[in-house]
Amino acid sequence: MIQRQIDVALGERSYPIYVGTSMTTSFAPTCQQHGVPKRIVIITDTNIAPHYLKPLQQHLRHFQFDVSSIVIPPGERQKSLQRANAIFTELLKSNVGRKSALVALGGGVIGDLVGFVAAAYHRGVTYIQAPTTLLSQVDSSVGGKVAVNHPLGKNMIGAFYQPKFVWIDIDCLRTLPPREIVCGLGEIVKYGVILDAELFAYIETNLDRILQLDNEAVMHVQGRCCEMKAHITSEDERETGIRVILNYGHTVGHALEAAGNFTTVKHGEAVLMGMIAETYIARQMGMVSPEVHERIVALIRRIPLRVRKGSLTLARVLQAMKHDKKTVDGKKRFVLPVRLGEVQIVDTVEPSLINASLRHLFAEKMVTGKR
Ligand code: ADP
Ligand code: ZN
Repeated sequence: MIQRQIDVALGERSYPIYVGTSMTTSFAPTCQQHGVPKRIVIITDTNIAPHYLKPLQQHLRHFQFDVSSIVIPPGERQKSLQRANAIFTELLKSNVGRKSALVALGGGVIGDLVGFVAAAYHRGVTYIQAPTTLLSQVDSSVGGKVAVNHPLGKNMIGAFYQPKFVWIDIDCLRTLPPREIVCGLGEIVKYGVILDAELFAYIETNLDRILQLDNEAVMHVQGRCCEMKAHITSEDERETGIRVILNYGHTVGHALEAAGNFTTVKHGEAVLMGMIAETYIARQMGMVSPEVHERIVALIRRIPLRVRKGSLTLARVLQAMKHDKKTVDGKKRFVLPVRLGEVQIVDTVEPSLINASLRHLFAEKMVTGKR
């Protein structure tokens, strides 16, 4: 049942985000309503397929859709040009034409990869985001940023390509490993700090309910995050302005992910740790009060994050920070909190302070804790 609809306003590319529970039974009618082509290819991974693929296929067939599927291995490494090409080959071999639709059934990896394939295949086919992880449901499935990774940089080959609609079924989260719930919280806390002090306070009060996947609490935070993402996307689809603030926690976060070869540390975990380091920078620069700094760190400390040390050494993080491809005119850009719900973009952080913030982060128990 669809319980909520949030609209992303982008002129003729506008689209809704539908949120609810037990939603499989209304998927096909929603496709019909949006004029989705009859030929549908569902693309998902081997962890998700056993739970959700068959029922969705049967449901669509029941409504006379011509459905097939492509199931790939899980993991960030699949976000590659090689995998995209393998999917192109399969689509071409199966005579999937221009008037077809792809459904991205999965987490951020599937969403980014399938969106990228949809943007390029026949110069663009219809696609639908059906995110199944908390992280992709609150953040990456909305906004149309699609990409694959290049050996020289994450998300370096991509496009802005909006889906027909986003389909968020909260029930999918029940089969998600607990570590992935923690990852989702990375982006959720981020939204609280950058734009919404009330959301931040709600997470403080309801963290345990969210971790236990209490429906009401999850719906609440998810709704708020999607509203903010929808609003920011409408204002600045191509990230030339306000959309940049979504990168709070991400400048350090990306370096942590890279230092861990994109395996040791997951994106959401990296964002949680990145927010600790970046809030420390804001505090040292006198931008944020000690009270707000403490509240942010205290909340993140309560989230059960345990990252294996692995290849994650301070030296490697510092090196990754230096080689980050995302610099603007050679300057590192940081999104730093001023107060809860407000951030500032700063590109004048001294390298010595960046280093100090990483040392500070490594002194936190969470980075060295064993799983
Ligand atoms: P993210 O959305 O954080 O980018 P991924 O796309 O890498 O994450 O998905 C994280 C992991 O969770 C992958 O191994 C994926 O196969 C698995 N997964 C995704 N959704 C579900 C689900 N609903 N139930 C079980 N496992 C899932
Ligand atoms: Zn992110």
